[in-house]
Amino acid sequence: MSTPRLEIDLDKIRHNTHTLVGRLAERGISVTGVTKATLGSPAIADALLTGGVRALGDSRIENIETMRRAGVQATMILLRTPIPSQAAQVVAHADVSFNTELAVVSALSSAAGAVRRTHGVVLMVELGDLREGIMPADLEHAARRTLYFPHVVLRGIGTNLACRSGVSPDARNMSELTALAEALETALGVTIDIVSGGNSSNLDWALGAGDTGRVNDLRLGESILLGREPLHRQPIDGLHTDAITLVAEAIESKVKPSQPWGVIAETAFGNQPPPRDRGDISQVIFALGRQDTDPDGLRPPPGLTVLGSSSDHLIVDSGHERIRAGDEISFQLNYSALVRAMTSPFVAKVVTTLGGRAMSQATHVIQG
Ligand SMILES: *Cc1c(COP(=O)(O)O)cnc(C)c1O
Repeated sequence: MSTPRLEIDLDKIRHNTHTLVGRLAERGISVTGVTKATLGSPAIADALLTGGVRALGDSRIENIETMRRAGVQATMILLRTPIPSQAAQVVAHADVSFNTELAVVSALSSAAGAVRRTHGVVLMVELGDLREGIMPADLEHAARRTLYFPHVVLRGIGTNLACRSGVSPDARNMSELTALAEALETALGVTIDIVSGGNSSNLDWALGAGDTGRVNDLRLGESILLGREPLHRQPIDGLHTDAITLVAEAIESKVKPSQPWGVIAETAFGNQPPPRDRGDISQVIFALGRQDTDPDGLRPPPGLTVLGSSSDHLIVDSGHERIRAGDEISFQLNYSALVRAMTSPFVAKVVTTLGGRAMSQATHVIQG
């Protein structure tokens, strides 16, 4: 099989989904499965749906279109505030979008009216991470105005933390979200159906001891696909951390000094700290680089250490392992490495099911 390739185990993804959906159901929270790291792969979308997610969310309308065209049956939510010039595409393919600008809501209402549809709007609130969101003091006004647009319906409110500034979801900001939902209901006489508390970084809070209040939805991507929570990148109990792995092939294996020699200037990708002198090491080069993935986000198997990378090479100290040119090694990925590998045309994507058995029958290549 060609390398580099992402190996995607649908059974493990389904297991991770089912496990998180079950744990959150006990807390009154349903799950929106987030597909953006998968480029809207219909096979992965199906695994999320059979694992029990209530809806699918993606940040890009193109990915939602891919899933729709493949016949994926689900409520589709556009998670990034729509690009105004894509309003017609958004109402055509997404049932709901997350919004922060009344001008965009207005454009969605016009576009929906033109095709006799109603589009759902979730208003996003800023609770401190300083990415998207209406300031809390302005939420009531935005919600009131949203109710006036004829072809959109206000479905709920949401927030997103941790992604830009690392602000952790906690009892304080989550109870503020509950209070905002209740204040809107009182002020406007509406029911706020969806109170979407955040992404995978909300899991510690959601599965902790405290009250979850009105929060009834989390949008989960990373935790399902990689089995880790993003705040501390710790494995989540009972989940697979290898549902998706990146397989690379060795192209050179030599014993070399651990330190470079000659006059040292900048590297192709800026300065790197000088390596520690450990004498001679077993250095292996894999045909995998920054055009394929984020090398800083790779976790090699035990015994191997990533030393450096360039656009096309990953340099690894293979320790006591004997690796020769042509050998394949599987790396685990963080979210950044996963997204880059998924979007690289140089990386094949191989989906397996049946617990990795029957690879030849059950394997199909999404692209690449
Ligand atoms: C990407 C994204 C998510 C999912 O985040 P994960 O950390 O992958 O769970 C949720 N909400 C929004 C708005 C997003 O952009």
